[in-house]
Amino acid sequence: MVLSSAQAAGQGPTSSSAAAGTAFEPGGDPLSPNRNLTPITSRLDAMGRLEVGGCLLSELVRRYGTPLYVLDEATLRATCRAYRESLERFYPGPSLALYASKANSSLAITALVAAEGLGLDAVSAGELLTALDGGMPPERIVLHGNNKSAEELALAVARGVTVVLDNWHDLELLEELAPEAGGPVRLMLRFTPGIECHTHEYIRTGHLDSKFGFDPDQLEPVLRHLVGCAWARLDGLHAHIGSQIFELDPHRDLAGVMADALGLARSLGHPCGDLNVGGGLGIRYVAGDDPPSIQAWVRTIAEAVAAACRERGLELPRLLCEPGRSLVATAGVTLYTVGSRKAIPGMRTYLSVDGGMSDNPRPITYQSLYTAVLADQPMGTETMESVTIAGKHCESGDVLLKDISLPPARSGEVLAVFATGAYNASMGSNYNRIPRPAAVLVHDGQADLVQRREQPEDLLRYDVLPARLTSVS
Ligand SMILES: *Cc1c(COP(=O)(O)O)cnc(C)c1O
Repeated sequence: MVLSSAQAAGQGPTSSSAAAGTAFEPGGDPLSPNRNLTPITSRLDAMGRLEVGGCLLSELVRRYGTPLYVLDEATLRATCRAYRESLERFYPGPSLALYASKANSSLAITALVAAEGLGLDAVSAGELLTALDGGMPPERIVLHGNNKSAEELALAVARGVTVVLDNWHDLELLEELAPEAGGPVRLMLRFTPGIECHTHEYIRTGHLDSKFGFDPDQLEPVLRHLVGCAWARLDGLHAHIGSQIFELDPHRDLAGVMADALGLARSLGHPCGDLNVGGGLGIRYVAGDDPPSIQAWVRTIAEAVAAACRERGLELPRLLCEPGRSLVATAGVTLYTVGSRKAIPGMRTYLSVDGGMSDNPRPITYQSLYTAVLADQPMGTETMESVTIAGKHCESGDVLLKDISLPPARSGEVLAVFATGAYNASMGSNYNRIPRPAAVLVHDGQADLVQRREQPEDLLRYDVLPARLTSVS
């Protein structure tokens, strides 16, 4: 049975491992990594053990311990290039892809993405500081958020970062900060485009139940209001329709909606040179997933925006997009050590690993599916068994993969879970006071630590014990 991760979501114990169903194929399409299950540098060594970026995964575990996030530099760079080159190839005007850093925010990823010529979208002071310290030029950063604090806005304004105006509250806060900006504050305006995506269908409505952006009927009032704001400069418009989307039609329709808004904004005198269509391209988590390629996604949007502008007699804007998941997910592999085993006769066998919902909250949050193998036996063996991979947290729902097929695994063996580069580390927690994993970047046989492993003592750093509680009576 081959299910897509979207179809299977929320439908109980359906899951997939590489060995169940289709044959495991390391690597895959180097031009559009989001269509692969594994990083593009995945190979088997002479003994059939899995390597990524020229590094044997089980050897990384000996050096760095588990759980361990492994990031493949070649996959990350290939994905950045796929976005950049597709935009150049299919869009007749200027363009820029901005990495939606909420998917996985770190100094190392920022530096790589900046070196590949991309920009970045941040949604908090933390992501913004990571971007700036990681070397992303401020003029290539935008700050998003439906409830930005005055401090976050002040940081953006002081550093020359473009602010995406999300609501009237943003406007009021910015107006107070503007005198310190030393020039017009650069803004984009986010509105709800009335296109709602589900993974296998989408609907268009006038008003959407979304906390993000200006409602469509507020678009004209806010554009008119901004005409009178000498402190502001409206550089562009933004909309984002959803995430893990496999269809191209919603993005094609978005182009028309945004071109209408662009025409309105320009007719009121706003420069509006940029059109930012957000992110949302899906990736392959399990064998049954079949997302479009980056090239097809960019081409659809580029051609639709160009056509929509031509029809309306609008000068071509610079085309911006904001890929998050599709830029980093496939580059990431999480390694765990198998520990205890509990076989419930007639029910299922649980194998527990040394991480779980704190390093990957997606299964418990969204019933997300993943693919996993034993790092040293990725092709499986003659005898396979069905097991459920449980995390170590005090929560029955802390299950990473249900009913997957693996070679009989002893404690101490290394489990590799694929496509964990997006929304794993960034959504992680310290639940049960479990420290966060280390992360390494692998490239050409070299591994560089990019995130140090948190230690249990680190978790006490911000605790305060009032003196009156320490006196022993
Ligand atoms: C989450 C988000 C993105 C990235 O979405 P992906 O599905 O990860 O590509 C881009 N832009 C905005 C405004 C977002 O909220």
